[in-house]
Amino acid sequence: MTDTALPPLTLHLAAPRGFCAGVDRAIKIVELALEKWGAPVYVRHEIVHNRYVVDDLRAKGAVFVEELDEAPDDRPVIFSAHGVAKSVPAEAARREMIQVDATCPLVTKVHNEAARHSVEGLQMVMIGHAGHPETVGTMGQLPEGEVLLVETEADVATVEVRDPERLAYVTQTTLSVDDTAGIVAALKARFPAIKGPGREDICYATTNRQEAVKAMAPDCDALLVVGAPNSSNSKRLVEVGAKAGCGYAQLVQRAAEIDWRALDGIRSLGLTAGASAPEVLVQEVVDAFRARYDVTVKLVETAQENVEFKVPRILREPA
Ligand code: SF4
Repeated sequence: MTDTALPPLTLHLAAPRGFCAGVDRAIKIVELALEKWGAPVYVRHEIVHNRYVVDDLRAKGAVFVEELDEAPDDRPVIFSAHGVAKSVPAEAARREMIQVDATCPLVTKVHNEAARHSVEGLQMVMIGHAGHPETVGTMGQLPEGEVLLVETEADVATVEVRDPERLAYVTQTTLSVDDTAGIVAALKARFPAIKGPGREDICYATTNRQEAVKAMAPDCDALLVVGAPNSSNSKRLVEVGAKAGCGYAQLVQRAAEIDWRALDGIRSLGLTAGASAPEVLVQEVVDAFRARYDVTVKLVETAQENVEFKVPRILREPA
């Protein structure tokens, strides 16, 4: 007779987790575009940062390219949820392409803020991560060199501005709430006249997912975040979990990436997912734990979300 008793594990499941309204909308946009125009439909950059989602859409006929010049003039092109520099839709218009903008409306709001401050003659500072497509897109709303990027409090000490009295800042939407508060405080200390958003630019989904992780982290021996290595908000969840007291915090794309040896001896696990990670991958991870542990799931719900964004008009009209 074999001993089948599995070790007990309390699995704290974060809520909210996974898809946000902007990701939901972006995926829907690609699916509707495929329905409306047929395959292939071109998507500039990964529509959202998740390989599973991208592979699924690719199988349905989406073609992912990094730059517009890789797409032909006569097929529709979709811009990813992260947003694009102004030059990209301008180029698509010049080539008379059908273009659909899947930029999350909360990113577009930041673009509009940057443009408004610039019209008022204020120099822009962007708090964000260099090279992330959202940062590139937001900085690209203004002419090159107009937006100053700061990534850390240390950058604030050295940034050179035109006029300290005429400044404003915006932020990437997927940053760490706490780290960003520190950078904003440093900016305000050095440039007391700097203008900022009425409410911060970090979006509701980023904020809510970080809050849920903070709430459960002290009760968890380890934290797993389902998400992609290039997903900013997923990486922030790992950092937030580690700072909030999780001894071990790790990003996994799916169950096959779990490092079981590192989890040896744990009695409690926190599990969440970045805003671009589908629920099916979270359930895959839960199932993998059920195969090895006697799992008790505890939902840690710190907020309820009911945000929904409409798809662009062009996809609501008949072909
Ligand atoms: Fe929009 Fe926030 Fe989702 Fe990014 S994480 S797509 S800003 S709702």
